[in-house]
Amino acid sequence: MKLSELQLAQVDRQIKRLIASDSYYGKIFKEANIEGVTSQEEFENLPFSSKADLRNAYPLGIQAVPDEEVVRIHSSSGTTGKPVIIPYTAKDVEDWAIMFARCYETAGITNKDRIQITPGYGLWTAGIGFQAGCEKLGAMAIPMGPGNTDKQLQMMMDLKSTVLTATSSYALLLAEEINKRGLKDRICLKKGVFGSERWSEKMRDYIRTELGVELYDIYGLTEVYGPGIGINCSEQNGMHYWDDYVYIEIIDPKTGRNVPDGEEGEIVITTLVKEGAPLIRFRTHDISRIIPGECPCGRKYPRLDIIKGRSDDMFKVHGVNMFPSQVEEILGSVEGVSSEYNINIAHDDSKNRDVILVTVEAEGRVDFEKTGQRIRELFKSRLSVTPKITVVPIGTLPRTEKKAKRIIDHRENNLFT
Ligand code: ZN
Repeated sequence: MKLSELQLAQVDRQIKRLIASDSYYGKIFKEANIEGVTSQEEFENLPFSSKADLRNAYPLGIQAVPDEEVVRIHSSSGTTGKPVIIPYTAKDVEDWAIMFARCYETAGITNKDRIQITPGYGLWTAGIGFQAGCEKLGAMAIPMGPGNTDKQLQMMMDLKSTVLTATSSYALLLAEEINKRGLKDRICLKKGVFGSERWSEKMRDYIRTELGVELYDIYGLTEVYGPGIGINCSEQNGMHYWDDYVYIEIIDPKTGRNVPDGEEGEIVITTLVKEGAPLIRFRTHDISRIIPGECPCGRKYPRLDIIKGRSDDMFKVHGVNMFPSQVEEILGSVEGVSSEYNINIAHDDSKNRDVILVTVEAEGRVDFEKTGQRIRELFKSRLSVTPKITVVPIGTLPRTEKKAKRIIDHRENNLFT
């Protein structure tokens, strides 16, 4: 998807503003003798930006406006190293709420809905984004934040929440609790807006059935406003994203070159009107593709496919690249197996080979030994690796309210970054 004339002019303006502000990226452009962009080709030759830059610029090096214009910061935790701080102006906060309200509307949510917000508040962008969008839409926010499952369920019943917003693993936990406590008939949920994690078809089905909701995937990242820059519509065929605020390219993560629409690669985002911390060609490491053509729903906003995984979640065993999503597909095809799993990878020095241990959960009604064999065969035929499989009863593996870490690599110089 090429930049429109308007988008090109917006990017040009962003670059000029960065240079004038003498911020971290302004200096980079100045050193590279870049003064702006006038064509797609020039744009595609601009340097990428990355989370590593944002860490280098810690705490506020990327700020591109005077202090008096900054009204808030958010921070992404990051599993390694320093956190990243993103400053927002009043317009950035407002723009984000507008985009988020548009997400809710695209999911068919209206000002009559009651939205139970379970993602965390605070430095993280999640909770407050869900709330601002909800208030902008005029719906009722029920700002729970994460945890305290008893209270979550009580409020959900007493206030008759119609929309649940959560991480997918917390949605799963709530669905399991509702099932266990037999509360399904007392829940009024109609829609679930879940994000931030790649999840399997199987997990989606379970949540859809147990909560009795339509599912909507919301996309976004702290570095670029937060969640809310895209969501799927009722056609359930990709996520519309807001191309009046962001320009999205898909690149080959190895070569850095753009791939044609429809082909899979890494999502790279350029903010078009962001003031506090504009980002040009920010590498997200999320793997997806642009869905060509128009959506049957009639919206003109372009579409991204569901996130397939992260280029840095990709793990390599015996030289084979693998994504958690491929593991999820295998498990989803085996009868009686839950969507929870973890994989430990280690190196057997005496044999000089990698060892993979996969732990999965199965229902009591299935034969654990046969189930393990079946999964092993599928790994062999589809991924060309033969792991050791351990089958444990459902509920054994830990559920978390945060992003689940499922791949644990014990190799010294692991290759998956
Ligand atoms: Zn649509």
